[in-house]
Amino acid sequence: MFLTISTTGSAEYPATDLGFLLHKHPEKAQSFATSHGTAHVFYPEASERRCTAALLLEVDPVALVRRGKGKGRGGPSDMALAGYVNDRPYAASSLLAVALSAVFSTAMKGVCRTRPERAAEPLPLCVGIPALPAKGGAAVVRALFEPLGWTVTAEPRALDERFPEWGDSRYVALTLEGRLRLSDALRHLYVLLPVLDDAKHYWIASDEVDKLLRAGDGWLAGHPEQKLITSRYLSRRWSLTRQAMERLELARLAAADDSEAEEIDNAVDETADTEERPVPLAVRRREAILGALRAAAAGRILDLGCGQGQLVGELLKDARITEVVGVDVSVRALTAAARRLRLERMPERQSDRVRLIQGSLTYTDTRLKGYDAAVLSEVIEHLDLPRLPALEYAVFGAARPASVIVTTPNAEYNVRWETLPAGRMRHGDHRFEWTRAQFRHWAQGVAERRGYGVEFSAVGDDDPEVGPPTQMAVFSRSDASEGVAA
Ligand code: SAH
Repeated sequence: MFLTISTTGSAEYPATDLGFLLHKHPEKAQSFATSHGTAHVFYPEASERRCTAALLLEVDPVALVRRGKGKGRGGPSDMALAGYVNDRPYAASSLLAVALSAVFSTAMKGVCRTRPERAAEPLPLCVGIPALPAKGGAAVVRALFEPLGWTVTAEPRALDERFPEWGDSRYVALTLEGRLRLSDALRHLYVLLPVLDDAKHYWIASDEVDKLLRAGDGWLAGHPEQKLITSRYLSRRWSLTRQAMERLELARLAAADDSEAEEIDNAVDETADTEERPVPLAVRRREAILGALRAAAAGRILDLGCGQGQLVGELLKDARITEVVGVDVSVRALTAAARRLRLERMPERQSDRVRLIQGSLTYTDTRLKGYDAAVLSEVIEHLDLPRLPALEYAVFGAARPASVIVTTPNAEYNVRWETLPAGRMRHGDHRFEWTRAQFRHWAQGVAERRGYGVEFSAVGDDDPEVGPPTQMAVFSRSDASEGVAA
């Protein structure tokens, strides 16, 4: 079992700093006893320009069997032999992850007394794993590592090179490249190697949830494949998985709440042309959305990513609107929405018009079919870019309401927020913020692919140089309007 980590450097920052960060000297080969065999750390190359550390785990198959935790995947009859004859000595598996954490535990925590600034900053890294068991193949490998900022090369290994017709094995040769902090890289590997292997070799105790959350701190809560990662890591113990998912959701919301950016998002739009008190941008956004919904004569409306239900409340005030469904992935947001709307105490005639449901917009959901309009207000920028096609399909391909209204920040306007540091996004949970050109490009592509027309408008003061603070697109399904008129 073998893994390499490389970095490049310069005269000022020699690549050999990697030795300090890993707490392992580049000129020494060292060996450590771990519970499943011996781990060796050595450096095949160590120069100012390029430095590579290798971790080789020599698995002791007898120890594995003795520990009673190295059972093969087969049925009871081949169990005895499978204990000894299996892929463990060669493939990077959960055992390698365990060795990684044993040998590089300080580096995983990001602690480095001699080079603290190097530990804290992203480095050009390249991780190589020649044989990685990957359940689900290269596509799953990419889905796990790409959202974390890695460029992934995952080449399937043939089952037997002499017999190509046998197809691929469940192993891939993996190369990860990216600019990341070393501690983050190690924690990604620590969690994702066993997830890909999907065969943990030690018992799952409840402290595994703590281990997972510690290693996943800062990246797992926002990972689009969080559920797959959590359930596989915890060997599909559903009660533990649920516990982990709930704690991750809380962590994500806490991170979002903490950022001062929410204030910016709801900041007063000083430029609003009214004599009295300036109108908060969030209010102007809801007015713009209501205007578009009225123009489309929409009676049954989806508020997708409804958050705490402010727009739902506004929609219910309009008697022409007969049904409002708020959808959000966050149970906490939905609970807050129900409280804000006083759903419990609403007269039946009113409460019949509204429903709050939990769901993710990146999955097709039959409950969302057949509505007049869907609103995505300040939602798309909360999704990782690679997940946008899934949302596009679920909303424009499967649910297919006659109208879709999308609002999102205009990144060009950020220079006008005096309290926002240069280069920062408006909200801690935003995965991207688009310029007007980027938003148009995306929206026009969606319209073309899905059979919609699209029009754009500005929300908030339209600055001559940088445009408005919020941009809005109104999509109309091409086959919707003519039918009625004719
Ligand atoms: N529409 C509200 C809230 C915007 S904040 C407003 O305009 O004020 C973004 C919301 O999208 C959050 O409540 C978040 O939980 C939700 N969200 C993010 N990703 C989601 C997903 N994949 N599926 C459903 N909701 C999601």
